[in-house]
Amino acid sequence: MNITARIDSWAINDPEKICYKNGRQTYTYRDLKKFSDSLAASLKAESDLDRPIIVYGGSEFEMIVCFLACAKAGTAYIPIESGTPAERIAKIKQTAKVQIVLAVAEWPFNNPDEIIYSADSLRNIFKKGQKCQRDWAVRGNQNFYIIFTSGTTGDPKGVQISHDNLVSFTKWIGTDFGLKSGWSYLSQAPYSFDLSVMDIYPALFSGGELEPLFKEEVSDFKNLYQKLAGLTVNVWVSTPSFIDLCLMDPEFNGLNHPRLTHFLFCGEVLTKKTVEKLFSRFPEARFFNLYGPTETTVAVTQIEITRSILQQYEQLPIGYAKSGTKILLMDEQGEILKPGETGELVICGPSVSKGYLNAPQKNSEAFSIYRHQPAYHTGDLATQVGDLFFYQGRTDFQVKLHGYRMELEEIERHLTAVSFVKSAIVVPKSQAGKVVQLVAFIVPAPLNIDQGYPLTRKIKLELQKKIMAYMIPQKFEYLDAMPLSSNGKIDRKRLINRVNVL
Ligand code: AMP
Repeated sequence: MNITARIDSWAINDPEKICYKNGRQTYTYRDLKKFSDSLAASLKAESDLDRPIIVYGGSEFEMIVCFLACAKAGTAYIPIESGTPAERIAKIKQTAKVQIVLAVAEWPFNNPDEIIYSADSLRNIFKKGQKCQRDWAVRGNQNFYIIFTSGTTGDPKGVQISHDNLVSFTKWIGTDFGLKSGWSYLSQAPYSFDLSVMDIYPALFSGGELEPLFKEEVSDFKNLYQKLAGLTVNVWVSTPSFIDLCLMDPEFNGLNHPRLTHFLFCGEVLTKKTVEKLFSRFPEARFFNLYGPTETTVAVTQIEITRSILQQYEQLPIGYAKSGTKILLMDEQGEILKPGETGELVICGPSVSKGYLNAPQKNSEAFSIYRHQPAYHTGDLATQVGDLFFYQGRTDFQVKLHGYRMELEEIERHLTAVSFVKSAIVVPKSQAGKVVQLVAFIVPAPLNIDQGYPLTRKIKLELQKKIMAYMIPQKFEYLDAMPLSSNGKIDRKRLINRVNVL
C-alpha cells in the first residue's frame, strides 16, 4: 500500500469529503489531491530531487499539501515551523544539503542558490491542476520525512523516517485504538514535531478531518478557551502538558464535547492526576498512554488507561509493544536484563528509523542491528512487568518540558557562548517525576556586572537568536563560581538538589 495512493483514494471515491477545517476555511479531499498533484508535477521538473525539501510554515492546509506533494514527487520533506531561529535553520540546511524550500510562511533567507516557492507561487501552482504519476511516489525504504530534533553538540539531528516506517505506525494507530474512519482529529502539535504525525496520517488514511489549533490561537488562555469551545474533534492527540492546560478551563468537559471520545497522549510522563481529572470531566471517553521517540516513528507502546489500571498502579505504565516490535531492556554493557531490573529501553522493529541524516558517528552510537532488525537505543530507562513497560527517566541530559524534547547540554553550550556568561549549567526542576522548569546557573563575566533581572534580560535576548523559545530557561541564578565535586568536576548533583528541595 502506498501512503499517497491511499490518501488519494478518498478524493477519488468521495471527493467532497472534508479533510481539513480551521473555523475559517474548509478543504476537501478533492482539493488535497488536486493541489498536491499539481505541486508534485512542478517539483518533478526540478533538477535535484535527491535532496530533501524544506516545508516552512505553521499549521496551514498548504503545509499538508506540500508534504504530500513532496512524497508524490518522490522526495522527502523536512517540516520547519515558522519562527525557528535562523541559526538552527542554517544548521538544518547544511546537514540536509537542501536546495528547494516550500515557503508557506515567509522564508527569512535570501540565498541565490536556493529555489524558493513563495506562498503566492504555491497557490498559483495548486490552481494549475497539473497531473502527476503514481510511480514517482516515495515508497519502501525511501525517506518520507525527516524531522530534526535537538542534539547534544548543539547541532540538530535529522531523523529519517521511511515510507514503510510510516505505514507500520499508521496501520497500528488504525487498528489498536478503536478509531473509526471519517473521524475528526485535533491537530495541535507543530508539524515540525513528530507528535503531529499521530494526527495527520491516521486522519488522512481513514478519510478523516484535521482540526488544527494554530500557535497564535493557543498563546493565551482566553484565546485557547474560545478555540476549545468551537472544536468538534472525536480524537484528541496531544502531550499531557497540553491537556493539563486545557483542563484549566472548566467548560472543557464531555457535556460540551460529546463527540470527543478518544484521547491519545504521548511524548512525556502521563500522571495519574491528569487521568483522574479526565475521568471526571469525560466519563464516557477512552484514554491511551503511548510512548516512543521520533527515531522509531512517533510511538511504539500503548495502553488504555482504564479505571482499573488507574487504581492498580502507583505510576502509570507506558504500555505494551506494538505488534511486530520487540522491546528489550539492556544494561550498560548491552546485556539483556533479568525481569524486574531497570535498564535502557531498546526498540527493534519495522518503525525504527534507518538513522540520522548524514551523521555516521551519531548513528553508530544510537542505532544497531538486533536479530536482523534495526534497533534504536533510546536513552530511556524502563522496567518490565510481564509484557508491560514502565518508564523510569533518562540515562542522559535529555529532558521534556511542556512536551518539548531538549538536550540540556545544547542549551548550556549556547548559554556559555553568550556575552556576559563565563560558564553555565542548566538544571531541571521536577515535581512528581515531571520536569516543570529549567533553572540556569550562571557565572557571569565580568563577575562584578550588574546581576539580577537586567542581566537575565540581556542574556535571554541573545539566547533567543540561537535556540527555540521553549529551550530558554525560565529562571536564572548567578554564582561566583560553580560548585565542584571531589573529583574536580562541576557538582551538577548539588545544583539539582538545590532547585529540587523538598
Ligand atoms: P520525542 O522524540 O520528542 O517524541 O521524545 C521522545 C522521548 O519522550 C522519549 O525518549 C521519552 O523520554 C519521552 N516520552 C515519550 N513518551 C513518553 C511517555 N508516554 N511517558 C514518558 N516519557 C515519554
